[in-house]
Amino acid sequence: MDDFEGVLEGQKIAYFSMEIGFNNIIPTYSGGLGVLAGDTIRASADLSVPLVGVTLVSKKGYFLQELDLNGNQIEKPDDWNPQDFMKQLSTQVTVQIEGRDVQIKAWFYEHVSPTGFKIPIILLDTDIDENLPVDREITHYLYGGDQVYRLKQEIVLGMGGTKMLEALGFSVRKYHMNEGHSGLLTIELLKKNNMDAKVVKHLCVFTTHTPVDAGHDKFSYDIVDKLIVDEETRMLLRKYGGHDKLNMTLLGLNLSNFINGVAKRHKEISAQMFPGYKIEAITNGVHSYTWTCECFRKLYDKYIPGWANEPELLVRTHGILDSEIWETHMSAKRILIDYVNDRTDIGMDYESLTLGFARRATGYKRPKFIFHDIDRLRRINARGKIQIIFAGKAHPKDIEGKELIRDIHRIIDELKDDIKIVYLEDYDMDLGSKMTSGVDVWLNTPQRPLEASGTSGMKAAHNGVINFSVLAGWWIEGCIEGVTGWSIGPHPSENWSHEQVKKLEHDDFYNKLEYVIVPGYYHSRNRWIRIMNNSIGMIAYYFNSHRVVHQYVTNAYL
Ligand SMILES: *Cc1c(COP(=O)(O)O)cnc(C)c1O
Repeated sequence: MDDFEGVLEGQKIAYFSMEIGFNNIIPTYSGGLGVLAGDTIRASADLSVPLVGVTLVSKKGYFLQELDLNGNQIEKPDDWNPQDFMKQLSTQVTVQIEGRDVQIKAWFYEHVSPTGFKIPIILLDTDIDENLPVDREITHYLYGGDQVYRLKQEIVLGMGGTKMLEALGFSVRKYHMNEGHSGLLTIELLKKNNMDAKVVKHLCVFTTHTPVDAGHDKFSYDIVDKLIVDEETRMLLRKYGGHDKLNMTLLGLNLSNFINGVAKRHKEISAQMFPGYKIEAITNGVHSYTWTCECFRKLYDKYIPGWANEPELLVRTHGILDSEIWETHMSAKRILIDYVNDRTDIGMDYESLTLGFARRATGYKRPKFIFHDIDRLRRINARGKIQIIFAGKAHPKDIEGKELIRDIHRIIDELKDDIKIVYLEDYDMDLGSKMTSGVDVWLNTPQRPLEASGTSGMKAAHNGVINFSVLAGWWIEGCIEGVTGWSIGPHPSENWSHEQVKKLEHDDFYNKLEYVIVPGYYHSRNRWIRIMNNSIGMIAYYFNSHRVVHQYVTNAYL
C-alpha cells in the first residue's frame, strides 16, 4: 500500500481526462481539452474542492513542432521524465486487453494551490517490465496511433483508472468524464455495482465537448471484440454504447445523471443530436491567474486585491485609469513583439495594430479566413498598418491542417512587401499566454457550429485584449457588439444557408476591420481602451474556471 499522507481523506470527485495541461513543461496536452482540464483542476484546488485527477502519463508527450521555410511541419518527439515532477507508486492493477493481462502502474502528482489546498493527480503508466513491448507503449503517445491503439488507451484510462483509484484506497462520490475518452469507466462501475445502471448513473457526470457526430470517439465492434474478450463487457457495451458501433459519447449519455455541453449554444446542438437526453450547459472558463500576464496581475493586485481567487471581482474595473490599462497592455505587447523579433527576421514594431490567431491548425478553425480577399486586406493595411501573428500545431495525421500551415506560409510570402505576418513554431501554453496578452485583437473564425466553446478568447479578455470573433461557442454569450468586442457575421438564430453565412461573415469581417477596428485603434484610443476595460470587467469576471467549478459543484457534484 502506498503512503499518501492525508491524500485519501474524505470523498473525492474523480476527474477523468485523456489530457491534462499541467504547465508548459509537462507536455501531456494537445489543445483546448487538456488546458481546460488543467484549469479546472487549478480552480478546484483554489476553491478547496476535493478532486482527484486521472489521466495517462503520455511519456512521449504530444509533439514538438518545427516548421521549415515552406511551412512544412516537422514533428519531433517531446519526451519527458515523469520522475522529475512526480512520484511513482507501487500499487499495480490489471486490465484485460486481447485476452492478456496488462499491468498498470501510476504516478502521483500533487497540484498545490497558493491557498495550500492540494489536488492529487494519478497518471497511468503501462511501461513496466511485466508487459509485452506492445503494451508498454499504450501510455506513450497522446492521440498517437490508430483506432486499436486509441481503444487500448481508453481501456487503460477508463477501466484501469477506476481500478487504480480503488486499489489506492480513494473513496469516490462522483466520476466526472471530461469527454468520452474515459467512457469505459461506466462498465467498470456497472460491474462493481451489480449491474445496477441506476446506481452508476447517480455516480457519473459526463461533459461532451464536440458538436459534430464525426468528432465523437467511435469504434467498430470488430476492433472492440478483438481487444475485449470478456462476454459480459461486450454485452454491456452493446447495451449502453450503441448497436452498430461503440460510441463513447452514448456510453457517457446513457450512464450519467448529469450531462452537459460546454456553452449554451453547444448544449442546444447536443440536445438536437441526442434527442431524449437531458443536457445542461456549463460554459467553459479559463483559470484567471494562470492566463493573466505578469503585467496585468500587478495592475489587478493594485486595484482589485483578492481577484485571483475571486475573479468575479474583476467586474470592478471602472476605477482603473485608461493610461494604466494602455501602459500595462503595451508592456505585454512589447514582450510578445520582442519574442517574435528574436525568433524571426520579420521586424515587427510596437505601434502597429497587431492581430493574433493561434489554435490547433485544423480545417474548421479556418485560419485562412482573414486572407479570403487579399487585395482588400492590402487596401485596409494601406489606411492603417496591421501586423498578424499566427501559431498552431496540426495533428500529425491531419493532412488538411498541415496544408493550411503551408498555405499560410505561401500567403505570408506573397504579402511580405505589404503586411508583416509571421507563423510562430510550437504553439504551447507559454506561447499561448504570450500571444493572448500581447496582441491588440484576438481573432477567432471557426466554422459554425463546429466550435463547441473555445477558450483562448477568454484568455485574451483577461489581458484586456479585444475579441473579434465569429458568433460561435462562448462568444455568443460574451459578445456585446462594440462594447465587449466585435462579432463577425450573423447571429446563429438568423436563418441563413451555409453559403450565405460564409459570405456574410467575410463581408462583415472586412467591413469592421476597415471601418471600425483600424480607425478605432489609430484614432479613437479612448473608446478603444473602454472596450479593453470591458473585456476585463464584462468578460473575464465571468468566463473563468472559478465560476465553472462553482457550477459543476452545485449542479453536478452535489
Ligand atoms: C487555450 C489553448 C488552446 C485552446 O484554444 P481554443 O481557442 O479553444 O482553440 C489550445 N492550445 C493551447 C496551447 C492553449 O493554450
